[in-house]
Amino acid sequence: MLLPVCARPGQDLGRPLLNVRDPSPPSFGHGRGEGSEAVSPVAMVWPCPLPVDAYVAAGREVKFPRLACPSCAGPLVLWSGYWRHVREAGRCRKIFVPRLRCAPCRVSHALLPAFVLAWRLDVAETVGAVIAGVAGGWCGVRPAAARRAVPYTTARGWVRRFRRRALELGTGFAALAVELGGDAVRPAADAGRFALAAIGAAFGAAAGLPGWLALGVWRFACSVSGGRLIAANTTSPYLMVGKRRFMPPVPP
Ligand SMILES: [Zn+2]
Repeated sequence: MLLPVCARPGQDLGRPLLNVRDPSPPSFGHGRGEGSEAVSPVAMVWPCPLPVDAYVAAGREVKFPRLACPSCAGPLVLWSGYWRHVREAGRCRKIFVPRLRCAPCRVSHALLPAFVLAWRLDVAETVGAVIAGVAGGWCGVRPAAARRAVPYTTARGWVRRFRRRALELGTGFAALAVELGGDAVRPAADAGRFALAAIGAAFGAAAGLPGWLALGVWRFACSVSGGRLIAANTTSPYLMVGKRRFMPPVPP
């Protein structure tokens, strides 16, 4: 059973919940033209613990948790899905992304596994490793990109986006860390390092809860940001103290 880590008073603890989310998540046409429905799905990310290989192998039969509609908390039903690419270790793979629909809201939601960041081809671990290396001051973009077999310009784009959002990310993840009983992280002179430290502290705190440790820090970060860790269109902070709730991973 899926239980929310942080539930509001009176909330039904047995109801599967969405990850941390913006109360008004932006809609987007996922994958720029993929799929044929007129409805733009809202992406949801579930804390998928599967290796990419296993997810790929499962194809359309991939098992995912039952989720409630983020708007009305009604049941979401499998409606359709689409195929998209992900790149891991320099290799492109095709994965099936289920699309769930809420009948009352007439909204469909693309259900992304935690290794997929919205609008990004490369898996969260790759993106995270490059960001951690560069923003953490360990290496330049070029060697970080080469090590992960991604184009230099792609890696540079990730780092730029991360730096641009670093203060917001750092603040959000630092608050999450505290809320989960973890260490307080003070803002540093370098916003990028602050954000990295805060993400690490939040993950450290979440790792004490069932299931998160196995996901690793970047799938965790992807999950709790709704896949929008380095998205361009996040206009409001999505890590909201007080209203925060997210779903622990499915036990294996
Ligand atoms: Zn709904």
